[in-house]
Amino acid sequence: MAAASLLRDIFGFDGFRPGQEEIVDAVAAGQNVLAIMPTGGGKSLCFQLPALMRDGITVVISPLIALMRDQVRALREAGVEAGALTSGNTEEETAEVWEAIETGRLKLLYIAPERLASGAALGMLRRIGVSMIAVDEAHCVSQWGHDFRPDYLRIGELRRALNVPVAAFTATADKETREEIVQRLFDGEAPETFLHGFDRPNIHLAFGAKDSPRKQILDFAAARKGQSGIVYCGTRAKTEALAKALRDAGHLADHYHGGMDPEDRRWVETRFQREDGLIVVATVAFGMGIDKPDIRWVAQADLPKSIESYYQEIGRAGRDGAPAETLTLFGPEDIRLRRSQIDEGLAPSERRAADHARLNALLGLAEALHCRRSSLLRYFGETQVTCGNCDLCDSPAEVFDGTEAVRKALSAILRTGEWFGTGHLIDVLLGNETDRMRQRGHDALPTFGVGREFDKRQWQAVFRQMMGHDLVRPDPERHGALRMTDDALPILRGEASIQLRKDSIRKASRGPSVKS
Ligand code: ADP
Ligand code: ZN
Repeated sequence: MAAASLLRDIFGFDGFRPGQEEIVDAVAAGQNVLAIMPTGGGKSLCFQLPALMRDGITVVISPLIALMRDQVRALREAGVEAGALTSGNTEEETAEVWEAIETGRLKLLYIAPERLASGAALGMLRRIGVSMIAVDEAHCVSQWGHDFRPDYLRIGELRRALNVPVAAFTATADKETREEIVQRLFDGEAPETFLHGFDRPNIHLAFGAKDSPRKQILDFAAARKGQSGIVYCGTRAKTEALAKALRDAGHLADHYHGGMDPEDRRWVETRFQREDGLIVVATVAFGMGIDKPDIRWVAQADLPKSIESYYQEIGRAGRDGAPAETLTLFGPEDIRLRRSQIDEGLAPSERRAADHARLNALLGLAEALHCRRSSLLRYFGETQVTCGNCDLCDSPAEVFDGTEAVRKALSAILRTGEWFGTGHLIDVLLGNETDRMRQRGHDALPTFGVGREFDKRQWQAVFRQMMGHDLVRPDPERHGALRMTDDALPILRGEASIQLRKDSIRKASRGPSVKS
């Protein structure tokens, strides 16, 4: 049957989503394919549909047993012969799968990667007429990423043994992960690559410098009263406090974090799903498995750890395609915290460098001077001109040549031996005669008092932007004292200039939504 009629008759969809059709065509034609699509973009269809168009069995490798079972159930309900071989099977289920294989009816066979470790599985797969391998969550082959699954490394072997095409799917778009997937699944031979659907044009993007964080969140929620929303926080304690503050302000609000009983967590999940206008204040633990299409807004009370996490969290808003709003707050404390989490983690140094780079990408977005969506999509490899639906398209950032200010700040850092945080550094720049200043003799430095053209808040914004541009980093071994990075050298030497935002302390919240 042709793709379009299968799409309608079996899956019940009127049309393809952006990007799906090309992927389906390539996979159905037996090409090796790597498709990068955001979560919720509709990647399962891109291997399920071709599986029905091709002779023989499509083997689907997926890391989560629960997801496999869901997909198998949905396919069977649609009348498709699908089965799974996982450790979660009953004997009866396994027998049924075998029967469908033996009689040649089975079209899709889901297998947990652990199964590939046994030679028996390979022998079995050789025997049953596999025509294609689909790999879900393909980034699990990458040691670079966060979900490495050693068993995924066997997929390359499987491909060579069966000599069939592989279609690999992932939502992780960064270049290193992509390269590792190509290396390990396709032996370095570039597959047909598709990258699609990262743009979520109905989601309004906005960042705000953390100013009075609780009030900023309360204002944002107040302007959207009665709408379902999520507030993400960095700590468990904060979810509880903020949920209470929201209730006190007359909202329906509940908190959610990984330290709660599974039962309580499920209760909040269900309540969120069913009740209109509930706000859930949560840690990152809230997310997997939320399937609520009409979440109208997402606020991040603390800066997420990477651009991927940012995208995933805000991406939970507006799945129904109707306008949705987001607000991300960030300040120097967030940057310090995220850097030290990376530095103090147990990851090997290469991974730490990658994590710093992912955080840098997010900070670059936070400090962007032009359309945020184009910065975001550029990171994911898609291009797009200005979007008209972000805070910077609404009102462009005012910028100034910050080279001189940055050089003064760097000079204050270097002349105090890279041993101090922003508080003292700003005192130096402003020429404040504190006790510490006199004890250290810093009032005699040539940098003392050279920055009186700005006030304290403005200097804070300069330092935050310097951290955002990765010109300086807090050193965890020096209690978070700022140290210069190599990226700052060209500015220090007068070989490069830098634009800074003037309006970094302006309000990011747009007030009541006019679109809903
Ligand atoms: P993911 O990319 O996260 O694996 P899924 O494949 O689970 O996403 O798809 C996400 C949702 O989108 C599912 O509810 C699916 O039914 C729906 N979907 C996929 N393709 C289409 C389509 N062409 N038209 C309408 N809905 C679709
Ligand atoms: Zn924009």
